[in-house]
Amino acid sequence: MGLMKKKFLGAIAAVGALSMVLAGCGAGEDAQTASDGKPIIEVLVQYDSTNRKKIDTNKWISDLEKDAGVHIKWTVVQQDAWGQKKSTLLAGGNVPQVSIRAFNPDDATKFPYFEELGQHLDKLPNLKAFFKENPAAQRMVSDLNGKFYIGPAQFYEGKNSQHWMINKTWLDKLGLQMPTTWDELDKVLEAFKTQDPNGNGKADEIPFNLNGIGTGTYGWWTPMLALNSTGSVTQAQGGPWQQGITVKDGKVGSWMTSDNLRQVIEWYSKLFGEGLIPKDALSNDVDELPGTEKDATVGVAFTYNQDAFGTHGDEYVSMPTPKADASMADSDVVWDASGDYGKYENYHLAIKKDAPNMDAVLKLVNLLYSEKYSVQQYYGGISDGLVKDDGNHTYTVSDKVFADTTVSYSLGQCFAGWFPNDVKINGANNEKSLAADAVYDNIYKNYDKDKDAMPIWVKADTADQTTISNNTTNILNYANPQIAKWMKGDEKITDASWQQFVDRVNKLGMEQNVQLWQKWYDKYQDQKVE
Ligand code: MG
Repeated sequence: MGLMKKKFLGAIAAVGALSMVLAGCGAGEDAQTASDGKPIIEVLVQYDSTNRKKIDTNKWISDLEKDAGVHIKWTVVQQDAWGQKKSTLLAGGNVPQVSIRAFNPDDATKFPYFEELGQHLDKLPNLKAFFKENPAAQRMVSDLNGKFYIGPAQFYEGKNSQHWMINKTWLDKLGLQMPTTWDELDKVLEAFKTQDPNGNGKADEIPFNLNGIGTGTYGWWTPMLALNSTGSVTQAQGGPWQQGITVKDGKVGSWMTSDNLRQVIEWYSKLFGEGLIPKDALSNDVDELPGTEKDATVGVAFTYNQDAFGTHGDEYVSMPTPKADASMADSDVVWDASGDYGKYENYHLAIKKDAPNMDAVLKLVNLLYSEKYSVQQYYGGISDGLVKDDGNHTYTVSDKVFADTTVSYSLGQCFAGWFPNDVKINGANNEKSLAADAVYDNIYKNYDKDKDAMPIWVKADTADQTTISNNTTNILNYANPQIAKWMKGDEKITDASWQQFVDRVNKLGMEQNVQLWQKWYDKYQDQKVE
């Protein structure tokens, strides 16, 4: 998804695009109706990149207008301008008739400007079918009573993007096996450091590079993914895990006060001490992991797939979770449970409450969620040859779509749509992501993602969110620097200092956060969803 390419996103002002036909709307006419009598629908879409072509250059847009019997007046807002635009729209209460990738369920809870969509499901059969096949997506956007104001999106073969990757070419060259335990991994890292596996005669190898910890919550490609080696399931891509929360067998707890974290810290401390991780690694930028983009100098890293390693990408494969201790059973190790975060997003479609021309709006939205328009929104038009409809729910994406990385056709991840299970996309360009994740298929079976991780649909209410967020700030301000000191070996962890840390994290609010998340986890067990 776009998060991988954050650094390529430039700061360019918002672009507005108007359909030509609007010129026909003269003075004195109903502003919501064009001169040909068709309704004019205002649609806002938030773009993730200035590389996306102007929205009305997509030929499928005019097909969509024809099929829906409407004219669309587009507003495109670039991602870096959206925060301000959103505040303005919400402050004035003047939201567009349709918004794509703009407002989320929290916005709809706080501001009464959005249409409850559940009441219209009979007029939205494509959204209904989406929910039938993906109950998690419906629960994610719905409140405890099953009401929902926002339509989600689902990505084609969407997966977890957290992977533990290793240079397989180096392993082979040095005659080493894929490590299956931390001890074996330590030996591999030592060999990477001392035996010049990239063969340039220089000791320039970085055996294991880490992303920084920083002062905020724990996110994508965090060093804490090593917790999975101890049997503690992470969710680096979203939800309360990022604030220190875990779930095991339906019981909420905290990884930040767990023995698992101490075990991980002590292991990292050993690796730092042996020079197998660079001293300054904990201040690395998550988007600019040194040693991954020019020369093959990194042996092991947490990242998305082999593309993270640039021209040497082919040398890298995912490493199945190594056991923290050789005595563990194969079924004791786990891997990150971010799959639903990679598959669904909860902020992709909103309709203005009591929008003018509601029937036309619903018809348009239903078309967006159709198979044909989902595919075209995501990849490109059928009528302009970017995508070929091969029949039988099979489509072939033209090479042109991915040929120039500085040009993005259509909406990509900014779409409002989904891909039914029977849809097959040839040329989807997702082989590397699928391969990176497939290595963990058997390890994912070692836990129940709805009982041993926080389900994507569990949400706290506004008041509790504020409490949790304030507690989290206090906890992380204290915990992150301390964890970094221990990891780097600046301080040695002792039973006494560990107990002091646990007590302090609990007192700063973790105990309360655990209770609050347990309350909401339990409440959402009884969520009413049709
Ligand atoms: Mg070398």
